[in-house]
Amino acid sequence: MISSAQLISLIRSYAQNIDEGLIKKAYIFAMEAHGMQKRASGVPYFNHPAEVARILAELHMDVPTIVTGLLHDVIEDTTSSFEEIEEIFGSEIAFLVEGVTKLSRINYTSSKTQQAENFRKFLMAISQDIRVLIVKLADRLHNMRTLNYIVSPEKRMRISLETLEIYAPLAERIGMNELKDELEDIAFYNLYPNEYSLISMRLENINSKSSNFIQNTLIELRRVFKEVNIDATVVGRQKKAYSIWKKMHRRNVSLEQINDIIAFRVIVHTVDECYRALGVIHTNFQIMPGRFKDYISVPKLNGYRSLHTTVIGPMKLPMEVQIRTEEMHKVADEGIAAHWSYKSGEVTADQEEAKKYNWINSLLTILKNSNAPEEAMNNSKLEMFNDEVFCFTPGGDLIALPHGATAIDFAYEIHTDVGNRCIGVKINGKMSPFRTVLRNGDRVDVITAPHQEPDAAWAQFVVTGKAKSCIHKFIKSKEREQFIKLGLQLVRYVTNPSLKKNDIDIKQFHYDNYEKFYYNVGKGIVPLEQLWYKLRDIPHVNSHICLIDFMPGIAVHFAACCHPILDDSIVGIIIPNKGLEIHLANCEKANLPSSYVIKASWNQLNENQQSIVTCLDIVVANKIESFGTITNALSSNNADIINIRTERRSVDFFEIIVDIKVDSEQKLNDVQAALRVSQDVKSVRQLKNEK
Ligand code: MN
Repeated sequence: MISSAQLISLIRSYAQNIDEGLIKKAYIFAMEAHGMQKRASGVPYFNHPAEVARILAELHMDVPTIVTGLLHDVIEDTTSSFEEIEEIFGSEIAFLVEGVTKLSRINYTSSKTQQAENFRKFLMAISQDIRVLIVKLADRLHNMRTLNYIVSPEKRMRISLETLEIYAPLAERIGMNELKDELEDIAFYNLYPNEYSLISMRLENINSKSSNFIQNTLIELRRVFKEVNIDATVVGRQKKAYSIWKKMHRRNVSLEQINDIIAFRVIVHTVDECYRALGVIHTNFQIMPGRFKDYISVPKLNGYRSLHTTVIGPMKLPMEVQIRTEEMHKVADEGIAAHWSYKSGEVTADQEEAKKYNWINSLLTILKNSNAPEEAMNNSKLEMFNDEVFCFTPGGDLIALPHGATAIDFAYEIHTDVGNRCIGVKINGKMSPFRTVLRNGDRVDVITAPHQEPDAAWAQFVVTGKAKSCIHKFIKSKEREQFIKLGLQLVRYVTNPSLKKNDIDIKQFHYDNYEKFYYNVGKGIVPLEQLWYKLRDIPHVNSHICLIDFMPGIAVHFAACCHPILDDSIVGIIIPNKGLEIHLANCEKANLPSSYVIKASWNQLNENQQSIVTCLDIVVANKIESFGTITNALSSNNADIINIRTERRSVDFFEIIVDIKVDSEQKLNDVQAALRVSQDVKSVRQLKNEK
């Protein structure tokens, strides 16, 4: 057990002007308070808080944090009270001790709903002062280190699971990676002893075989850096069993397939040298594609910065190389604690470097404006969590989202289907708008319905990439589906209403895929004239055509090249084995030897039966039924559709341009009236003199 003198000299190694008396007082107070209490191992209980204080001193924490480490169990486990601590040690330390006590009282094994409530309390407690969390993590680390003394396997498993699910992620979140690694490894050993020993055996095996590999690689790496005059410290480090196990799960591979179990760290002096060193690695070794990550340009949320790449090493084995500066290295291991230490009362965090971490910015501002870091830390709240909000499902699962995320982002974060089927949201039990920006601790209940579909308007306010791409993808597929259905309706209109999808021969349109064909018809890429020309019975077309050199029984088709419409000047061209094709008179194809070309003109209707050809611009709701609405309105007034084009203007509306022929002005008015009374039709406009 660490003595008070040892503890004080440990703190002295990184800080001067410390209140030794306060530390001694706390040391004795806690020792007396715990009295004869024993740990599971049989040693005096006070051994535990003293070791927690040592861990905190090793992390270079400030004096109030270390004192809190000494006192952290006295309220919970002894007769001492908050008031007593406050009177002897002051309100700051009393507040910290109480915070840790509150965390200890939170029980994670109860029901899921209870868990959510508890985690909310947990976040509240640590958001008051981040030091509460750091003491709790040190407490947990010591408990994990002595976990083997606990007899009950169930209890060991429960504590390990809690460590893996709550404490290790929190340690990672504030960048304390070294502490996180140790927590994870002990928890993994207790939860999955078989997997742990299998992986450890394999690691040992590779290690003994590859100690030459590590040595040779180190020599080789040092040589290539020396060649280009980069002063680099290179170390080889074997990955932890738990991180290998996680990788096996994430990539779904067997242990044998994991080769890069050794990571090499290259530590240089400047950011510039990081990129130069990377260049050197990539020049000398073969790159494994897709494994390069630049966390210097884009740091992780917890402030971690480094370059990662995987290359084929000197012995033809893949190896991961991490390149960073000393400062980055310190942050990578200690996280927030790296910016915490002070010497001679001065903050020593490299302010220029640290400014690059988003989450540490506000922390530094507070530190800069304060003479006493201890006091300043009080106010820091949980600034580093500012770029994220933590919310909960009704089942108690924690969902972390970027700042500004809405209820819809939350729904998509749970599952794509939950987002797509979302019809309402309750936030903390109250129905709320989809665009509500979530706040820390919100409990979000997403209400879904099986046939609900996402609204395109959501894309305007969601912030997560996942929600954005899901909504976009849905709109795209929906659009495709609608054009396919519209295409089928158009073909049915031209042929017969009960036509089955596969009833027509699409080869004549040079398609071999029905979906693609109907999609292009719906989109207007296959013109309606072509459908008339290839699918429609001859008499209909014929009724408008008057062939001057009449040839009984000949099949008449409209040409796909020039699309003649009513009143165009036309000619007929005889195509052997096919019949007569009607072309525009000025079509290139009409320029054939005269024996193939036949004079043709449109049937002149009776003088008193004035036929009107005009063009309507109809805006309809983007619904499958809409096209039916239009064709019904037209056919019930004996209007012929000559041509139809669809233009998609928005997600909500279609714009359809229809060329129609009606018998009279009256009928034209009737058609427009019939269209306007339909709920699906938003507007009808007659385009005069078009075409
Ligand atoms: Mn404890």
